[in-house]
Amino acid sequence: MKWLRRLFYLVVVLVLIGAPVYYWLIVESHIPSEGSYAIDMAQVRALAASLPGDKPAEIRVETVSHLSFPKTIIVAGDTWDAADIPVSSYQLVYADRTAIIDTALTEAQAKASGVPMTSFDIDSYNRISAALHSAALIVITHEHMDHIGGLLAQSDLPKLMPAVRLTKEQVDNPDRMVPATWPPGALDGYTPLDYDRYTAVAPGVVLIKAPGHSPGSQIVYVQRADGAEMLFLGDVAWQHRNIDVQRQRARLMTQFLLKEDRDAVMLQLVELKRLREAEPKLEIMPGHDPDALDHFLSAGLLIKGFK
Ligand SMILES: [Zn+2]
Repeated sequence: MKWLRRLFYLVVVLVLIGAPVYYWLIVESHIPSEGSYAIDMAQVRALAASLPGDKPAEIRVETVSHLSFPKTIIVAGDTWDAADIPVSSYQLVYADRTAIIDTALTEAQAKASGVPMTSFDIDSYNRISAALHSAALIVITHEHMDHIGGLLAQSDLPKLMPAVRLTKEQVDNPDRMVPATWPPGALDGYTPLDYDRYTAVAPGVVLIKAPGHSPGSQIVYVQRADGAEMLFLGDVAWQHRNIDVQRQRARLMTQFLLKEDRDAVMLQLVELKRLREAEPKLEIMPGHDPDALDHFLSAGLLIKGFK
């Protein structure tokens, strides 16, 4: 039974090699011992009030598609059960105009990227397209396909560009948008936003720089006319659970697919947990969290469907 013993040793060696690799790629997540990330809410709120005019009365949402990832890809160390990843676009409704935060993606982009897609709502996508054409302001949380893709797919994109406020980092990193791409000439004569930590772009709307998930990642703070406040995280956290348990996405995703600055994102998750405790009225909308979406819809903080 020599072969059986050999087989046994082979299995032992494979487990010894494989277990640490599996742990590193799928399970490991830690808070870095150095570095910090902070959001000064007093400064953000002052900026939100700095531009003249009424703040938005409503925040509306379109969820155009649902993707699916294993839970352990979303929160390292969770199970392999499938989790829902809704892809949404948000519309701020002012008395006399609208603004858009994130533009979702097209069905073709989702298919080309190879991410597992469970549904795509073409009517919702068409409402986003129409809303992009009437928006006075279009911002994106970051330059990934599921946030900028809907904008890039518009056939008359040059007509929309005067309302588009992309940051320098978002424009300078087109490799992060694939399979979405800029149509030729779309950026001709375009001057991107260049700001340091915070900048106000409309009454009640402040951009908060948060590089890490991508170079052009930013958090969008929105204060409604009635005083309700929401932070749109983009993909700093895909779901609230990343903040709850202070754990990042699996390294398989952050290191090899997203090429993200993992430590920077982890420090942002630490700051978001602090903010959630220090500012209980500040609502937080992660990038792809179905439970948060349901909660904010039933609480009336978000309204379903664009105008
Ligand atoms: Zn995303």
